[in-house]
Amino acid sequence: MSSSTTNIQTLINQAEDLYEKSFGDRELGNTNFNTFCTSAPGRVNLIGEHTDYTDGFVLPLAIGYSTVVYGRGGIMKSTSSTDTRCRIVSTTTNSIVEFQATSSLVPLCKSEAWANYVKGVILQYMSELQSADERFVLDIAIAGDVPLGSGLSSSASLEVATAVFLECILNLNNNPYCIDDSLLYTREAKMERAKKCQKAENVFCNVPCGIMDQFVSSCGSRGKLLLIDCRSLDYKEVSMGGEEGDMPVLVVANSNVKHSLGDSEYPVRVQQCKDATSILSNVNQNIQSLRDATMEDINTASSSAGLEGALLQRARHVVSENKRTVEAANALEKGDWATVGTLMNASHASMKDDYQVSCPEIDILVELAQGYEGVYGSRLTGGGFGGCTVTLVKRDCAQGLIDHLNKEYTAKTGKQCDCFETSPGSGAGLLMA
Ligand code: ADP
Ligand code: MG
Repeated sequence: MSSSTTNIQTLINQAEDLYEKSFGDRELGNTNFNTFCTSAPGRVNLIGEHTDYTDGFVLPLAIGYSTVVYGRGGIMKSTSSTDTRCRIVSTTTNSIVEFQATSSLVPLCKSEAWANYVKGVILQYMSELQSADERFVLDIAIAGDVPLGSGLSSSASLEVATAVFLECILNLNNNPYCIDDSLLYTREAKMERAKKCQKAENVFCNVPCGIMDQFVSSCGSRGKLLLIDCRSLDYKEVSMGGEEGDMPVLVVANSNVKHSLGDSEYPVRVQQCKDATSILSNVNQNIQSLRDATMEDINTASSSAGLEGALLQRARHVVSENKRTVEAANALEKGDWATVGTLMNASHASMKDDYQVSCPEIDILVELAQGYEGVYGSRLTGGGFGGCTVTLVKRDCAQGLIDHLNKEYTAKTGKQCDCFETSPGSGAGLLMA
């Protein structure tokens, strides 16, 4: 990863080349099938972490790294396994995964696990087919520059780019042919796509994730962050206010560590939130999820209903984080960077101490950034136990910050970090048909 994003054309070329190499000499026979190329971005969450699966608020933005899906496909009325094959290949694996898109598809492990993200989405879109004997038939090649497993949501970008590809085959949503204007899709179509992709990841990849990643990859809009209400799925586009010259930038720093603890701890946090909610509902019947609870409810449940230890800490993080997220969106719109930064710093402390999802490498990056000139605030972004930090910094201090993080992170950990500057980019779209 460099400080500037890869040109999307480079990804298209990589996917096209891989397609030719993988399928060029044994292309799908049906001449009615069309060629499509779709893309969907990764994301970074400014604030609102571990709040999406308890109906709360998040404030992410789409970034300039994406996944591109290039290939040919269509729908066939046949159940013969030779007619109705799907073949997928990615630049990250180079080996072709072949299967039939039927309702009896099952997830595979190990070397083909990556294909579950594509298959899971195909399964979700099978309900859009006209009859039970229709099958998706496709050959697709995938190229992306969202770093895998770094908390920038390569998984959602793969799912959402696949979803747009299938929508093209199904002729849904009028296939607006323009990446830069995702507004051409209706709000409902983009949200429906996000829901299908989230379900794919939940049921087919066995990741109990919330809706945030798929939502912003599908609904992102250039220059805007999205304040998403994860209960109603209503969302508001939030622009960064203030004077043009005074506009800060976001620097993302990838720690390049991913502690395996994260995979096992995530479902534990999901369960702890459920357990805390059931205790809280004893003191206030209106509490259906942590989104409904206030600090007052938490204090009452702590003194009278046995909300204590880890459950108290988890609830305290989520409830305070929801409040910070809504406040940060307001402050961003006003160009009140100091307030946004203070909220980001408080968010990090809460994730570290109460939600306990940080790790030494991330804390070092955050401390280095928080102590650097021109920085308003810095925090862990994404699920935690490694991954990335996000920092709001004055524009003319951004490069100095990146140099500082590169040098000091290596000095303190012996590891290398990758940093890039980003601003809110567009959501998913069709690049060519
Ligand atoms: P994150 O979403 O933060 O990047 P995840 O663990 O949720 O991390 O998802 C990463 C996984 O998504 C990868 O291990 C791989 O299975 C799959 N994936 C994402 N992008 C690609 C790609 N371009 N090619 C193949 N698999 C991909
Ligand atoms: Mg993911």
